[in-house]
Amino acid sequence: MSEAVAPAKDEVLRTDVLIIGAGPVGLFAAFEAGVIGLSCHIVDALEQVGGQCIELYPDKPIFDIPAVPVCTARQLIDRLMEQCKPFAPQIHLGERVMRVERIEEAHRWKVTTDRGLVFDTAAVLLSAGNGAFVPQRVGLPEAQALEGRSVHYAVRQRAMFADRRIVVAGGGDSALDWALALRDQAKRVTLVHRRNAFRAADATVQEMQRAVAAGQMDLVIGTIATLNAADGALQSIDIKTLGGDTTIEADHLVALYGLVADLGPIAGWGLDVRAGRVAVDTSYYETSVPGIFGVGDIATYPNKQKLILSGFHEASLALRKAYGYAFPDKKRVHVHSSYDAALSERILGTSVT
Ligand SMILES: Cc1cc2nc3c(=O)[nH]c(=O)nc-3n(C[C@H](O)[C@H](O)[C@H](O)COP(=O)(O)OP(=O)(O)OC[C@H]3O[C@@H](n4cnc5c(N)ncnc54)[C@H](O)[C@@H]3O)c2cc1C
Repeated sequence: MSEAVAPAKDEVLRTDVLIIGAGPVGLFAAFEAGVIGLSCHIVDALEQVGGQCIELYPDKPIFDIPAVPVCTARQLIDRLMEQCKPFAPQIHLGERVMRVERIEEAHRWKVTTDRGLVFDTAAVLLSAGNGAFVPQRVGLPEAQALEGRSVHYAVRQRAMFADRRIVVAGGGDSALDWALALRDQAKRVTLVHRRNAFRAADATVQEMQRAVAAGQMDLVIGTIATLNAADGALQSIDIKTLGGDTTIEADHLVALYGLVADLGPIAGWGLDVRAGRVAVDTSYYETSVPGIFGVGDIATYPNKQKLILSGFHEASLALRKAYGYAFPDKKRVHVHSSYDAALSERILGTSVT
């Protein structure tokens, strides 16, 4: 599909619907938008699609998707990607939506991300789950000033770690994978984790233990206590261990403690937010602000069930009203998909209806 082509500088991306969140509900919404005849872009703060399904339980079986007796969460996301593929939605990953502003004269919305993408859209479909998944940060006051230069929450440019002393903190798959991956190019890699039990795949834990035994990297069981810096650059890290305090010389700290969901900027968009959810009217899952819809886990209404199938239904209905914002002068006539010749042509390349 559909990884978005980077827009030219200052380009405003115009679309009928902007979908915020590429979880299962946002991906199904992209398909439904295509069926209805709406163009869409999808934005997600994460570097991959799939929302909770991929971040929290990719290999768990799901049993309550209609007509799919069982599939893993990852398989569900793969299928949703395949389903929306004929409509080639543009998906912008690693972009967190920060502002949604009304363009009054045009009856449209201007939507801006943290990395500078700007959209001009007729409607906004908020399928943002529990909010954006953001990295759990190092809870030390000195860490913030070092962020980006010496303290990192993702590995974006491996080259910056070449021949440097790296501390990777965390005990999950990402921490172990990156500690192992960086050991060849770094001067030295030390994995720091608070306990001698890991949340990573068994094979990865074993590989890490072999690398430590072979002297290819170090493992310290303890808690990071202080980051020592000079001239804005990390010099060393003090670590509390059961055997006493120790200091490791380090140029970079890569903290991979996992992700936490954060409603963040959404709370400031003037929507009716109740206990971290966005209140919607169940006729079309529209929020208190006309033109902005809330679907999936982010939406709240009486008897709301946080289930994927509920989100699918909500998205489908919301987009039918969104159509009216995109095409105020057109009346949309519903055709069942089984009789929709244009849809058949688009998906199968031939009309079999
Ligand atoms: C362990 C576990 C097991 C589950 N099992 C089942 C099951 O068997 N059956 C079932 O039906 N449901 C199950 N669920 C619930 C199901 O996963 C959720 O209902 C579903 O993921 C909600 O989908 P969503 O698209 O609304 O939100 P999410 O999956 O949460 O996706 C939201 C996306 O929005 C992005 N986002 C948020 N804010 C912004 C922003 N400002 N800018 C850019 N991006 C943003 C996030 O990064 C995220 O990727 C389970 C949940 C868990 C945790």
